[in-house]
Amino acid sequence: MHDLTIAYTIAMPEPWTHEYHVRIDIEGITGDTLDLAMPVWTPGSYLVREFGRHVSRFTALAPDGTPLHWERVDKATWRVHTGGQTAVSVRYRVYAFEWTVRTSHLTSEHGYFNGTSVFMYVVGQTQTPVSLRIHPYEGWRVSIALPQDEEGRYHARSYDELADSPAEIGTHRLFRFEVQGRPHEIALFGHGNEEPDRLVADIQRIVETVAAFFKNDIPYERYLFIIHLGDGLRGGLEHRNATTIAVDRWAFQDEARYTDVLRLVAHEFFHTWHVKRIRPHNFDPFDYSREVYTPLLWVMEGFTAYYDALFVRRAGLTSPEAYLDYLGTRIANYLNIPGRHEMSVAESSLLAWIKLYRRDENTDNSTVSYYLKGSLLALLLDIDLRVQSQGRRSLDDVEWALWERYGRRDRGFTPDEFRAVLEEVGGRSYEAFFARYVEGTDELPLAEALRALGLHLHLEVDAGTPRAWLGVELREEANTVRIASVRRDSPAAHHDINANDLLLAWNGFYVRDTAFVRERLRESQPGDVVRLHLVRDGRLIERQVVLGETPPNRATLRPAEDATPEQQALLHAWLEGLS
Ligand SMILES: [Zn+2]
Repeated sequence: MHDLTIAYTIAMPEPWTHEYHVRIDIEGITGDTLDLAMPVWTPGSYLVREFGRHVSRFTALAPDGTPLHWERVDKATWRVHTGGQTAVSVRYRVYAFEWTVRTSHLTSEHGYFNGTSVFMYVVGQTQTPVSLRIHPYEGWRVSIALPQDEEGRYHARSYDELADSPAEIGTHRLFRFEVQGRPHEIALFGHGNEEPDRLVADIQRIVETVAAFFKNDIPYERYLFIIHLGDGLRGGLEHRNATTIAVDRWAFQDEARYTDVLRLVAHEFFHTWHVKRIRPHNFDPFDYSREVYTPLLWVMEGFTAYYDALFVRRAGLTSPEAYLDYLGTRIANYLNIPGRHEMSVAESSLLAWIKLYRRDENTDNSTVSYYLKGSLLALLLDIDLRVQSQGRRSLDDVEWALWERYGRRDRGFTPDEFRAVLEEVGGRSYEAFFARYVEGTDELPLAEALRALGLHLHLEVDAGTPRAWLGVELREEANTVRIASVRRDSPAAHHDINANDLLLAWNGFYVRDTAFVRERLRESQPGDVVRLHLVRDGRLIERQVVLGETPPNRATLRPAEDATPEQQALLHAWLEGLS
């Protein structure tokens, strides 16, 4: 099929109905049928979401307004019988009432859409240029990263670019700043305890830091941050020229929580290069009709999770001590995931679709996050490169090499090509590293690696945590306590305590809340036997459990007394971003 002319229009005449009205005018059709499809997933979020389920009132019209016959071919595809027409106008509505960065949200307050959740693509034409007209609700303004012509139409080089351009429509606040002569815009929806001036200044600082990391080789003309403030929100989704970030509206005054917001900003902004351009070979153009698999998410998301905190540090927005505390927390979290012995990070990457994005009570027992383990692998590689080269090389050089060779040329890489770049920069083989830590599940040599930076890694049980250990996560429900999950190889697992059991009594006493359990554990010793009454599947059961010893849940990183000047220099260069 030759290129068609494809013009999208999206309107929201009654936003309180949560329905976007979408119209697609297609010209230059030659066949008897025309297939249109809704994506089943959105790039950057590895879950089949079936966006087609929110589509209604589909119609297809000839230029004179005559309805054309159409049929639903599968869960995502609509087939229009053109009846010889060369131009067809398709209209449908999309129910948009899921407020996440990956979906769409239309209410009397605002409109937000992530392209994949509202726009059908013409099958076989995802690389054809398209135009978009947005009719905002009365009095609302539009923020979108696409270029606009004099007639108000937006233009995208392809469906991919259209789908990759989220929009915020409403009465949101707008802020602007420039970095290296490029305009950056922040569309801020919602209110809480934010300080806009500080937030804008800090985001600018992060943009400057990440851009400088890539030697100010900025791949976009213009960049848009859409930031949503809402109750309990947290999430971000990367795009080539934009990002949508959702955070809790009250996250801006507490220092630790605000730093987390800044890490999220740095994370999504780093993706502008790393993931959106420095990317696996099968990312972009995307196949929107099914899962796209890669064993490289530990590089794509893990490296990003490593650098996000480091950028906030290097931007001077947090102290070296606070950064090391954060890293300690990450290490402690990792060491408390039994699944790290069960599944490699390469497999966890590949299976994101059914594992990380579909968490259940067994997730931590059976898998390890490619974000978390990937970030610690990035740490190990970074330290190794710095130590082996006596400070002349680092993971930053690997990123730059990936950018020069692949990202800037908009070429993806295979897992082997990624490893080749790493080995070229490192000047040595990483075969054993990959076999043990990427494809394998060996314990990571974190203490040893950090020692090379003159840091001592200390593991302990947090002062607030009881020494006696049951090995369960608990959930409070209306005056009762339920077992949310049972940790592999814990006392609870060994004594037949199940997830979903209702924990009724501890040594014969009613368990009213989780604090009660914590208090009883605090009064117990490892080795004590407790009698638990539980309700399982409607029956009362009793279990005797021998309590264990709580494993370390806190990791601290402190400069070692005997660190050499060379180690101190490496530490300083790492924390400040010098190489
Ligand atoms: Zn990410």
